[in-house]
Amino acid sequence: MAKDRSHSLLHTGDRSDCDSVAVRPQPCESAELARDSRPSAPRGSARPEDRRPREACGVIAVHVPGRQAARLAFFGLFALQHRGQESAGITAANGPTFRSHKAMGLVTQVFDEATLAPLVGDRAIGHTRYSTAGDSDLANAQPFVVHTSDDSVAVAHNGNVTNAAALRQTLAGRGTKLSSGNDSEVLTHLLATPAAGAFEERITRLLQTAEGAYSLVVLTRDAIFGVRDPRGFRPLCLGRLPNGGSVIASESCAFGPIGATFEREIAPGEVVRIDAHGVHSRRLAQPPARTLCAFEHVYFARPDSIIDDQRVHAARYRLGQRLAVESPAPTGDVVIPVPDSALPAALGFADVSGIPYAEGLIKNRYIGRTFIQPGDELRKRGVRLKFNPLPHTLRDKRVVLVDDSIVRGNTSRELVRLVRKAGATEVHMRISSPPVRHPCYMGVDMPTREELIAHSRDVDSIAELLEADSLRYLSLEGMLAAVQHEGGDRGHCAACFSGRYPLEIRP
Ligand code: SF4
Repeated sequence: MAKDRSHSLLHTGDRSDCDSVAVRPQPCESAELARDSRPSAPRGSARPEDRRPREACGVIAVHVPGRQAARLAFFGLFALQHRGQESAGITAANGPTFRSHKAMGLVTQVFDEATLAPLVGDRAIGHTRYSTAGDSDLANAQPFVVHTSDDSVAVAHNGNVTNAAALRQTLAGRGTKLSSGNDSEVLTHLLATPAAGAFEERITRLLQTAEGAYSLVVLTRDAIFGVRDPRGFRPLCLGRLPNGGSVIASESCAFGPIGATFEREIAPGEVVRIDAHGVHSRRLAQPPARTLCAFEHVYFARPDSIIDDQRVHAARYRLGQRLAVESPAPTGDVVIPVPDSALPAALGFADVSGIPYAEGLIKNRYIGRTFIQPGDELRKRGVRLKFNPLPHTLRDKRVVLVDDSIVRGNTSRELVRLVRKAGATEVHMRISSPPVRHPCYMGVDMPTREELIAHSRDVDSIAELLEADSLRYLSLEGMLAAVQHEGGDRGHCAACFSGRYPLEIRP
């Protein structure tokens, strides 16, 4: 690990100690955007390389009496690595003493024996980050810690608060000085503001005032909390550890590696408190309709995670089945997935269509964004860094290439060329979600509207740009029907497909 890019801290509830080690972390939103009155907007051309939408963050909280919680948080974060690969951090609490370590890089690059050992305490929260708007640097790494005269609060946040500017003004009116311009800092200071009543009262007030997407884990001197925004944009779930103890994580895939079992999903507008007396829950009396991000089913979440009481893999398989019904490819000889996320959808498509399924592209799974920065010459080779074709499954075949989504389209075009160069006689693209035509303001890093290939283009024009023999997307209705729980649709956001935002967006 590069020590000059890391930051280990010890905090206590004592203000003088706090000042002596003061850091100014800036979580998932840029200063420019938060100072503006707008919700965080897509980064767009700030990132020149072609890429898929990026999930903002993964969070975890562990309470494990008599054991070191940070070690379990580390393994849980490792399982959440797909939600963010730019930085990682853990804050552990031993009574009122908070200790943190965070640095740029993958979880296994940030933590080792030397950095984990000081993080003592039976409660810990952790965070792995992908920047939605803020710079990719240590100042933006989480958890975010604030000390007050009577308490210390650490917060790790996944999502984007759309009224952060108004909340900042509220804090400024109270004389609170903020060190950065990001939404996670605002949330942390709102929770750290002393108030009468139990800590849950502060969280309940936060749920009533903060708009947008925020799944939070919170650490105080005597408890951990899991908080999901009233609309439930981002997932959050509760697990149980053997021999006592509990864990809260963005996705249930974090539970297996630490020996925990999935208990349930945390409901929108719910606050779960875990302390020495057990697990307690309270929920907003009348939360608005749920709007879970449909992209979690399509692409973001790991296929072995449970969302809506079902494995994500099963939802993706159904997406592929529906796609085959809506948009068959009758001349296809073989169904090839774009690895890895489109694998279940390609299986579903193959099973319904009767066209044989085969692997035709091998993905290099060790390409990470943070430390692999190819020079211009290598970048021009585009997808060749990431995918290698298997000519014996592609040669002289009419290929049905199944992917889960298309954003800018550069990768898709290179994949079509790659498959054709490997000998395919025809390439028919089938996409297991609708065209992405609108940006996201709820914490997902997407290109600007103009950079989206489907913005203001019809499907045939896109097919031409991709150099595909044909292109078909799953319909919006088909996607929502495929991802819904068997008990019925519990409510999803699909704004980047439909343009119908569940929140007021003030661009
Ligand atoms: S706009 Fe798209 S990516 Fe953003 S929360 Fe809604 S469905 Fe998810």
